[in-house]
Amino acid sequence: MSDTKKTGIAFKTTNWCNLSCAHCCEKSGPEYQQNLMNLDKMALYLSEFNALPIEKYDTVALTGGEVMAPYYSYDDTYIPSALQIIFNENMTPCLKTNGIWGNDENLMNRILSTITDVAGDNGKKVIMDVSLDRFHKNFAAVAKIYRSLLNNPTCAKYITVVLQGIKNNSVRSFYDLFMASSGYGIIWGKDISGQYITDGVSRYPIIYNFNQAIANIGRARANKLGTFNLTGQSDIYGDCIMIDAKDRVRLNHINALVMNGRPLGDCIKILEQKSKQRKH
Ligand code: SF4
Repeated sequence: MSDTKKTGIAFKTTNWCNLSCAHCCEKSGPEYQQNLMNLDKMALYLSEFNALPIEKYDTVALTGGEVMAPYYSYDDTYIPSALQIIFNENMTPCLKTNGIWGNDENLMNRILSTITDVAGDNGKKVIMDVSLDRFHKNFAAVAKIYRSLLNNPTCAKYITVVLQGIKNNSVRSFYDLFMASSGYGIIWGKDISGQYITDGVSRYPIIYNFNQAIANIGRARANKLGTFNLTGQSDIYGDCIMIDAKDRVRLNHINALVMNGRPLGDCIKILEQKSKQRKH
């Protein structure tokens, strides 16, 4: 890993997803079992990561598949437990989700309330990184999540929604979300503090150009840290360690190594060596 760039960590907790997108590069879909990542291992790897003598992002990405998978099978404890592990390390969780659960009011309430409870108990925020995408057709679902946050100030206090998926289709995606929002009584506005939505009573920020690089990790082929702006320019400036539910670790999406009981630091050294060999 570079001495000058920061390194982030992501956990791919499952390959199960409620969607079956043609463009999926995550080997995920409804045909996969949930087979959730073991939380004791997550805690171990996170503490090993924190002990590494490198510059780190303090945000931890949880991804899939669909990260909210356990809620779909009525396990309302897995994600809060994972969040507690991250809070215990004094880090910030970033849940990467397609947000389709916003279409199911009961499911949405379970997700938002249990996440708010654990965040509130710790007095810390959770980033909810929603992949806004024409393939996902999640504009109405995201609008309903916004609507729910406007109605629930406590949830809004602890959950920060960040919209992703805007690199290639920003204008149309935002137009679609804007249109979907208006159907739920939400008005968009903009002032000196940035863009926001309001129902005329409450107000919630629209965040789409997330400047902390970690929001961009854990997804797709370019599985590196980076940020991008609305002109679509991407700027890769960090390394990403990704660990999946099968106990495999990747560095910048190159080479998967089964950890096999080895400490994370040793695995990273092996992956760096492999990476150097590829370059020669
Ligand atoms: S929502 Fe994401 S993880 Fe799920 S199938 Fe679509 S691209 Fe893959």
